[in-house]
Amino acid sequence: MISTQIQLASYLFASILFILSLGGLSSQTSAKRGVLYGIVGMIIAILSTILGQGVSGHIYIILAIAIASVIGLSLARKVEMTSMPQLVAILHSFVGLAAVLVGFGSYLDPKTQALTGVEHSIHLVEIFIGVFIGAITFTGSVVAWGKLEGRIRSKPLIYPGRHMVNILLVLVCVVLAVLFTMASGTTGMIYLLIMTAIAFFIGVMMVMAIGGADMPVVVSMLNSYSGWAAAAAGFMLGNDLLIVTGALVGSSGAILSIIMCEAMNRSFFSVIFGGFGATPTGPAKAVDGEVTAMDHSEVADLLEAAQSVAIVPGYGMAVAKAQFPVKDMVENLQAKGKLVRFGIHPVAGRLPGHMNVLLAEANLPYDIVLEMEEINEDLEQTDLVLVIGANDIVNPGALDDENSPIYGMPVLEVWNAKDVIVMKRSMATGYAGVQNPLFFKDNTNMLYGDAKDSVSKINALLN
Ligand code: NDP
Repeated sequence: MISTQIQLASYLFASILFILSLGGLSSQTSAKRGVLYGIVGMIIAILSTILGQGVSGHIYIILAIAIASVIGLSLARKVEMTSMPQLVAILHSFVGLAAVLVGFGSYLDPKTQALTGVEHSIHLVEIFIGVFIGAITFTGSVVAWGKLEGRIRSKPLIYPGRHMVNILLVLVCVVLAVLFTMASGTTGMIYLLIMTAIAFFIGVMMVMAIGGADMPVVVSMLNSYSGWAAAAAGFMLGNDLLIVTGALVGSSGAILSIIMCEAMNRSFFSVIFGGFGATPTGPAKAVDGEVTAMDHSEVADLLEAAQSVAIVPGYGMAVAKAQFPVKDMVENLQAKGKLVRFGIHPVAGRLPGHMNVLLAEANLPYDIVLEMEEINEDLEQTDLVLVIGANDIVNPGALDDENSPIYGMPVLEVWNAKDVIVMKRSMATGYAGVQNPLFFKDNTNMLYGDAKDSVSKINALLN
C-alpha cells in the first residue's frame, strides 16, 4: 500500500509523462521516445492506482490485467497495418463501454447513495453525463469499426428530419437528467437506462450518417469522444489522473479532428452533427478520354528518362507492403542523380499518418517526404509521378465535379506533371467508391498489378 501523497505524486509524474508522450508523437524522429513515455506513464498509473489506499481484491485485479494483457498482446501482434483503424475504433468502443459501466456501478455504490445535498446532485450529473458520452462513444465506435471492416455499407444512411429527431432526443435526455437528479435512492435507475438506450441510438445514427471518404474525421472524432468518456469516468471515480488523461486524449483528438477537417475542407460542426458526406445532388460528371496501360519495361524506361520523380503512395501500398521495394527504387534513382520525393496526402491510407508510418518502417529519410501543400506547386515541374495504390487522394473530380462525394477535398494534383503512372490492380474505385477521371487523362498510364510485385519488377529492369 502507498500513501495518498505518494499516489498523488505518482499521478502527477504519470500526467507529465503522458504530455511528453503526446509531444513526442508530433514528429517521426521523436515518436518512438513518445511511445516509451506513454508506456512508462501507464505502468506508473496502473501501479499507483492498484496500490492505493482502500483498494482490495488485488488478486482479481492482477488476474484481470493478466488476461487482458494476453488478449491485447496477441491482437496487437496479429493485426495487419491495414487493419489498424478497425482496431483503434474497437478500442475506442471499450473506453465508451467502460464509462457506461463505471456510471452504473457508481450510481449503485452505497458511497454515492450516502452523499447528500449539492454533492449528491453534482455526482449524479457526473454519472449522467459520463454514461451519455460513453454510450454514444460505444455504439458510434462499433459502427465505425463495422464500416472500416467493410461489414456495414459505407454509404451514408440519411433520413428526412433526422437533425430534428436528434435534437428531440437530446432534449428528452435533458428532461431525463432532471428527473434522474431528483429521484431518491436508486429509483433514478429507470431514467438512466432510458437515456443509455437513447444515447446508444444517437451513437449509431451519428456514424451511420457519415459517408465513406469522410471516415477519417469520424475516427479522430471518436478518439476525442473516448477521451471525454474517460475523463467523465475520472470524475465519477474521483480519480484525478483519469480526468487529466481523458482530457488530454479528448482535446488532442479534437485538435486532430480539426486538422483532418481542414485537410478535407469540411466544416467541423457538420462533422459533429453527422451526415456531412452526403451533399451531392446530381449524377457525377461524365468522364472523357480513354484508359491506356503500360508494361513494366515501358515504366522503367520512363523512370530512366525522368530527372524528377514524385511518388504518391496510398492505401494500396499498405495492402501490398510495397514500401520496401519502393525504398530500393528510391535509392537506385537517387544514385542516378534524379530528384525523388514523396507527396503525402493527410488522409492517404486508413489512418492519420498511415503513409508516414509505412515509409518510416522502410527507413526512408524524412526529408524527401513532403506534405501535400509542399509538393502540389512543384508537380508542374515534375517529369514523372508514380501513384502507388492511391486513388481518392489523386481524384481531380474533388476539385471540379460538384456532384462528386469528395468534392471540396484538396487532392494531390498529379495530373499537372509531365507523365503519370498509376499502379493498381484494376479499374476498381477507392474507399469513397467514386470513379477517378485521372485514369482517363492523356498523360496518365495504368500499370496493372499488385504494387509490390510491380515495383519489384521495375527495380529488376532499372539499370
Ligand atoms: P483509396 O482507398 O482511395 O484507393 C486505394 C487503391 O489501392 C484502390 O483503388 C485499389 O485499387 C488499390 N489497391 C488495393 N490493393 C492494392 C495492391 N495490392 N496493389 C496495388 N494497388 C492496390 O486510397 P487512398 O489512400 O487514395 O485514399 C484514402 C481513402 O480512405 C480516402 O477516401 C480517405 O478519406 C479514406 N479513409 C482514410 C482514413 C485515414 O485516416 N487516412 C480513414 C478512413 C478512410 P485496385 O483494387 O484496383 O488495386
